[in-house]
Amino acid sequence: METTHKELALMAQLARGLLAHGERSGMAQLGDRTRYVGMSDLGKAMRCMRAAVADKSAGSGLAPDQVAQWFAQGAEERICATLHRQLVLQRGHWLEEGVRQALLANGAPLIPQLGIEATIQHGTTEVPVRAHLDFVLLRGGERPAIRVLELKSTEHLPKTLHPAYEMQVYGQLGMLATCWGKPCVNLRDGDGTPILSGQTFPEVAQHLFGITLPASSDRVDIEGWVLCLSMAEARAFGPYRPDAAMHDLAMRLAGELWTNLQRYTNGRVSLDDLDYCHGFHPLCDWCDHYASCPKFSTRQALDPACNAALQQLDALRSQRKDLDQEIKRMEERIETHYARLSGAGDWLATGDYRCKVAPMPGRVTLNRAMLQAELANSLGQKESDRILSLCTDTGRPFTRLFFGRTPRPATPSHEERIHVAA
Ligand code: SF4
Repeated sequence: METTHKELALMAQLARGLLAHGERSGMAQLGDRTRYVGMSDLGKAMRCMRAAVADKSAGSGLAPDQVAQWFAQGAEERICATLHRQLVLQRGHWLEEGVRQALLANGAPLIPQLGIEATIQHGTTEVPVRAHLDFVLLRGGERPAIRVLELKSTEHLPKTLHPAYEMQVYGQLGMLATCWGKPCVNLRDGDGTPILSGQTFPEVAQHLFGITLPASSDRVDIEGWVLCLSMAEARAFGPYRPDAAMHDLAMRLAGELWTNLQRYTNGRVSLDDLDYCHGFHPLCDWCDHYASCPKFSTRQALDPACNAALQQLDALRSQRKDLDQEIKRMEERIETHYARLSGAGDWLATGDYRCKVAPMPGRVTLNRAMLQAELANSLGQKESDRILSLCTDTGRPFTRLFFGRTPRPATPSHEERIHVAA
């Protein structure tokens, strides 16, 4: 019991520290995110305006001290869920540092965390927009080139890049190209202390590396890449190039998000007046605003995305069943083959593998009914019940997904159809 309490204390400490670190480093690198639209906000706004507005208005999110309160209340589930979420969210920053070191080791001119700030017009509203570029690689000379690298940490590598990430890259590339000769570029160190501010991109290149770049971005080979990293694999998506139409789309989305944020902050609309993503959507898995979301206040009769996910799960379960059977069949064949060989009991070398079949002791199980009867005979029913209840552990409650095919109305028989028609 004491160990569990101490384990939980450690988990709570880690969760609290991750929240505090995330809050501090986010503020140092990105500033107050409620005061501008960032390119990563666009991906969310594209999928769910409600979540994007709620995120931006909520500022830094969960306060680290909340975890201490949960610990005092013994709210283990909330602590573990927060820890899980923070580990997933912050894993990307840890990977980012590793990638930075790797790129620096190559010796190429590299700018990490380059900031570009501008104000765009959306109708009559001025919208502050910012792009934070994870990495910018530069090449000067006769054929100047810029490579913008956006890092994404994912559990499993995607086969295709999500449109929300593409929108983010197009927004970044568009801002780099349109703000090229304007004093919009800022650079901070890891603690958030400004290194350079209010410079043009060619001025930054000259200042940092002595690289002379053309006055116009049109004469520079600019590409954007998204590098997806899991803990063991990497996949690059690109190249993306500055595209005026995609940039316009990104800026229009930024304008809509900002306008909705202002209307919400001024109390002219509620969150539930804003559009949200319908159906079974991966964004909802990570959303902090699901508790009040209208999506979950009603049961949707038809949800094609959830239907597709259930179909996929159904197929995977059948594959697992087939696979289990296939494994069993193969094991039996090999065991039979092995038993027929002289010298059974030794290792059999097959080339790449070796194998042997060894006798194993049978599983030991406790016959509870018999034990109960024996205890009752020896000690009496009451004492027997007391001992059994003392030695009985109940596992934690858990959830289980039940699903099956929706029963379809039976197809009427030929006779029934004739009957109905008559
Ligand atoms: S729960 Fe889903 S639909 Fe609701 S706000 Fe969050 S992301 Fe949007």
